[in-house]
Amino acid sequence: MTTSSTIIPAGHGKAVRLRAGQSVQVINTYGTQVVDCWAWNAYDLDECMCMEATRVYNQHLNPVVGDSFVTSERHPILTLVEDTSPGVHDTFMAACDRRRYELLGCTHYHRNCADNLFEGMLELGVTPPRRNLASFNIFMNIRVQPDNIHLQTLPTVTRPGDSITLRAEMDCFVAFSACPQDIVSIQGAGDNTPKDAELRVLDTPFPDIPVRGPWVPAHL
Ligand SMILES: [Zn+2]
Repeated sequence: MTTSSTIIPAGHGKAVRLRAGQSVQVINTYGTQVVDCWAWNAYDLDECMCMEATRVYNQHLNPVVGDSFVTSERHPILTLVEDTSPGVHDTFMAACDRRRYELLGCTHYHRNCADNLFEGMLELGVTPPRRNLASFNIFMNIRVQPDNIHLQTLPTVTRPGDSITLRAEMDCFVAFSACPQDIVSIQGAGDNTPKDAELRVLDTPFPDIPVRGPWVPAHL
């Protein structure tokens, strides 16, 4: 059941507060948009979603349905419960920020995901810590090359209406940015123009997908 729907305007940020058991569906309306995502414990903003700890927990480069994202304290905070996209996402790349665009040659302010995080959270009346960990880059297409060293940055491979759904495992804030990147070709469909995306908060609990425990070596 959908309880609310929010448009993330192209190049801007939005955030939602979820109760444990609620989910947020991220819809790639036009099929071409990368959406960066961060999450925080609603009662302790120093505890935030952590890509490094998540890769340890799942032993995956990128999440698949059933994987949980864990926090800097290694507690599950979000679980990927549905993914209608080709499943290509990224946990490696730093969110774009003001300096990134300076390094790309911009001489004037360029909208960026790092500032959009604050735009979304401040709209809820919440000020997150200044330092934030790596984002989960939804629909972003970063390919590990066959030599296992090089990465290749490619346009997203999603289709219009593709979505992923993330279930909250604790009361939390989740911020999103419809990435304003229009210099490096990461948005799909050729022209690299940032587009709107949509968030839907759902009360559906997805009971068939439990929270898995962490990976541990087989000999333990
Ligand atoms: Zn960005």
